[in-house]
Amino acid sequence: MSRAAVATIHLGALRRNLARVRERVGAAKVMAVVKADGYGHGLERVARALGDADAFGVAALGDGLRLRAAGIAKRIVVLSGPDEAGDLAEFRRLDLDAVIHHESQLRWLETDRDPRALHAWLKIDTGMHRLGFAPDVARAVHARLLALTNVDPDIVLMTHFAASDEFEAPATLAQIGAFDAAVRDVPGARSLSNSAGLLGWPQALNTESGQNWIRVGGLLYGLSAIDGKTGADLGFEPAMTLSTKLIAVNRVRRGARVGYAGAYECPEDMDIGVAAIGYGDGYPRSAPSGTPVLVGSQRAAIAGRVSMDLITLDLRNVPTANIGDRVVLWGGELPVETIAAQAGTISYDLTCGMTKRVLFVEDDA
Ligand SMILES: *Cc1c(COP(=O)(O)O)cnc(C)c1O
Repeated sequence: MSRAAVATIHLGALRRNLARVRERVGAAKVMAVVKADGYGHGLERVARALGDADAFGVAALGDGLRLRAAGIAKRIVVLSGPDEAGDLAEFRRLDLDAVIHHESQLRWLETDRDPRALHAWLKIDTGMHRLGFAPDVARAVHARLLALTNVDPDIVLMTHFAASDEFEAPATLAQIGAFDAAVRDVPGARSLSNSAGLLGWPQALNTESGQNWIRVGGLLYGLSAIDGKTGADLGFEPAMTLSTKLIAVNRVRRGARVGYAGAYECPEDMDIGVAAIGYGDGYPRSAPSGTPVLVGSQRAAIAGRVSMDLITLDLRNVPTANIGDRVVLWGGELPVETIAAQAGTISYDLTCGMTKRVLFVEDDA
């Protein structure tokens, strides 16, 4: 075996998580967001597992190309649309939906003589200040799109929430209000909510048109974007288990220092385990001493700095540990959110960070 680090992707968890999303959204359609290689779980693999989604959302044209090459015939929405005029021909050839968020894209469309219909989503910036047209030009932009004979008149109106994970804060209600005002009486389906929006803001599901698209990423992978909550707390199953093996167990004396910079000092004579994974695999270097791992089914903890290929473990809680034992870094009983909190980041960042040398295997259950 070339490398012990394995990311096991639970296809059944992906499918069940999609069903759980459906239970919550009523008649709304579900766009499964698979950007960043399916949040690190594997783009084609995730798209195949989530065949029941109504559409896939990707960040870039290249991901749309990969999905079409893999035989995915479903609707695919490129969330940042064309990056240059020359992309439009590819959108049409591959039948990809384009999010139109900027005047420059509109001009490319207005000078594009290609007769093939383009499916457009019109993005309005209601407070995120990242992508989108200002609310006061939404109607005029919609009219310009409708005037184009090579744009399908069934245009979806969308916006994106900046802080939908903050259930107590008023920002999301303000965004919903700004969106409703900007597109009142403009025909077409609406699309507002991401995962946290779905959980915290049912108001966003009841837009006037009654048609709605939910754009959900994190929850499909069992990941939580809500501070202090795990995916399991929210009723979803983790779709990734990251594991490796113990490759050494060494007795180390009290007072000895472990690893780079001697960052961990043994408080007593103890066993230090060495597991074959490190930041070169995508395990966060920022995970401090004390970050939990599972050795077999027992909790152990990082002791000292995470190195490129290896981590060192405090095995005092696992007296039976042996070379070859399975070490779980996250997944199952060890929520990735726990590790993310220790490492000062969010769960999405960790699953997206797996490197090429990690072996991916699928578990269909
Ligand atoms: C990433 C993304 C989503 C999905 O967000 P989650 O928090 O993963 O559900 C939805 N819409 C847009 C525009 C996005 O970029």
